[in-house]
Amino acid sequence: MAKSQNKARQVTLHANRQRYTGIRRWLDVFVALAFVLLPPMTGLLKFDFWGGKHYYLFQESSFLDTLSAFKWPFLVINLIIIIVSHQIGRYLCGWVCPTGVIARWAEELELRFGAKSWSYRSSVALISVIVATGGMYWFVDLNVYLEGSLTAQGIVAASHLGLTAAIYYEMVRLRFDFCKKWCPSGVYFAVLGQMSRTGIQLIDRKEAPCKECDLCDTVCPMDLAPRELVAEPAPDSHGIYLNGMSPLSLCIRCGDCVSACDYVFKSEGKGGVLEMGFGEQFEVPAQKMEV
Ligand code: SF4
Ligand code: SF4
Repeated sequence: MAKSQNKARQVTLHANRQRYTGIRRWLDVFVALAFVLLPPMTGLLKFDFWGGKHYYLFQESSFLDTLSAFKWPFLVINLIIIIVSHQIGRYLCGWVCPTGVIARWAEELELRFGAKSWSYRSSVALISVIVATGGMYWFVDLNVYLEGSLTAQGIVAASHLGLTAAIYYEMVRLRFDFCKKWCPSGVYFAVLGQMSRTGIQLIDRKEAPCKECDLCDTVCPMDLAPRELVAEPAPDSHGIYLNGMSPLSLCIRCGDCVSACDYVFKSEGKGGVLEMGFGEQFEVPAQKMEV
């Protein structure tokens, strides 16, 4: 993420609490607890490739039984993802995905402490260790560090360290660049959401129109032009994304452009001229998708 974009995002989205910030914070906590920490900790679903104590629905079971039992919830979850992405686009990317959550945490810490400070680096490192430990707990009982063989401890420690380093790199360097260029799930959701019925729209407000300040463009983590998601032809896509996808399918519905625009009009006591909308006007097919 470019320095100027980084700065603009910090000033408008984190220093000033806008329309979506509060909702997203609660959602982040819910997602972290419900989907990341609680399932393995409570035994709702957990694998243990060291001790062989796999759990499904709070009962210990064999690896194959656990996998087999999980197939139906897995199918249902994926069906929901397909329907949601097809109908309303990439809200999962903008609101639920843990990658976006930790990217926002990193932005907030950078704003609070400064990018070069020890406090910032150590806070990010601590979060990386905690998140990586939560991730590891899905696949191995961490008692392996106390009771496992040297080989088992070495393998787990190397995986743990690698995951921690990847999360740290995501928080300090990549942030939303990962979503913009490299996330394979994002490509999948974008293809599913080619014809979804939601998006960002510009309100035609005569008494306080758009100021053409371009702040919405600057803060957009996907490098889109929020005012022209419907009107503009598909741009060349970044990274592993396919060329020719409609800009609306690339939009992760994060609402950062809406918040930035609210910030622009804040001193006038008005809301911004961008809003999240719903309707057939958003059904913009791909121009010519190149696989
Ligand atoms: S256009 Fe707006 S809602 Fe879409 S990704 Fe960009 S900032 Fe987020
Ligand atoms: S932030 Fe709002 S006022 Fe500024 S260019 Fe975007 S839509 Fe217009």
